[in-house]
Formats: sequence, structure tokens, C-alpha cells
Amino acid sequence: MKISSLTCPHCQAAYEVAESTSLVGAPGRTDCGICGTPLAVWNEPKLLAFRLVVPHEHKYPRVPVPAPLA
Ligand SMILES: [Zn+2]
Repeated sequence: MKISSLTCPHCQAAYEVAESTSLVGAPGRTDCGICGTPLAVWNEPKLLAFRLVVPHEHKYPRVPVPAPLA
């Protein structure tokens, strides 16, 4: 398994790309799950898995502070 990273050129969302070195996949393409920009196109029978790591707009999430338990 080869792991690399990819950043959407449009919305800067960060993806982790896992490429299987033992399994044969199929040619394909993937688009950014956030903005729909084409991220990658491959013509070889590769098995690629894309995982969204950090959506740009959620990089600094505003998490409400939970109320302390009384
Ligand atoms: Zn995007």
C-alpha cells in the first residue's frame, strides 16, 4: 500500500490517497467531495482509495465548549 497526499487545487481540501500495490483495480477518476473539482484521473488498472482528511473550511472548527457537569 502506497500512501500519498493530495490537495484540491480549488478548495484546498486535503486528501490521503492509498494505492494498493497488490490488488488490481480499474481505470477511473475522482472528484473533490467538497467542490467537485477533478482531483485525479488514472488510466492504469490501479486500485486507489481517496480519503478526505481535512476539509478546508473545517480546519479550525469552532467547537462549543460543553457545559460543565454540575
Ligand atoms: Zn475541492
